[in-house]
Amino acid sequence: MSAPAADAGKLVLALPKGRVMQASLQALRGGGLHLTAHGPGRALRHDAGDAIVIEMRNGDVPTYVELGVADAGIVGKDVLMEQNSQLAEPVDLGFAACRLSLIRPIGAAGTIERVATKYPRLTAAYLGRVGSGAEVVTLTGNVELACITGLSDAVVDVVQTGDTLRDNGLEEVDVIAHSSARFVVNRASLKLRSPVLRPLIEALRRLPGAR
Ligand code: AMP
Repeated sequence: MSAPAADAGKLVLALPKGRVMQASLQALRGGGLHLTAHGPGRALRHDAGDAIVIEMRNGDVPTYVELGVADAGIVGKDVLMEQNSQLAEPVDLGFAACRLSLIRPIGAAGTIERVATKYPRLTAAYLGRVGSGAEVVTLTGNVELACITGLSDAVVDVVQTGDTLRDNGLEEVDVIAHSSARFVVNRASLKLRSPVLRPLIEALRRLPGAR
């Protein structure tokens, strides 16, 4: 399988829809790419000037980059850790900083029997480390709801400001990992497109908050 012919010569970037899209475009512009704003339509793949941008759920970014459909992408470290990704991640962009935490109703005590999460692999590893035999239930939506409704007695989820927890009578009881947005690169592209990707990586590393 190869990339569509129209992509020839242009960098293809896999970017997550939603809350980090604007910050991602801003970072890439700060790194020297001229990227136009998305048009009014709903095209999921568009020519943004210096690059072709393909938009997707953040959990799909590693797959598109790993399989070479995209040369590079931006995705949270939480997603990379959950997927046990082996992608090259040359830049920690610093934004979308959050923590992956164990969350319970405020004041809850007693043994945790069931944990709901979108991060089953990291949750199982954490529960193993702390010697808990709790069952892990995988959800795809707002996992806080599981705790509020009694589906589970704890959840593992990402927390940014903590506002969602406070609004729902929940609290963080343990921090499992820290996350922020990472610039990830396909290893073959890093060689084949190094005249474009190397300077971009260097410029991204110099952005405020990045390393
Ligand atoms: P907050 O109220 O700011 O703590 O945000 C918590 C809610 O936003 C939870 O529903 C999380 O799933 C989601 N969230 C927070 N930070 C991130 C992030 N960096 N990436 C994706 N989702 C996030």
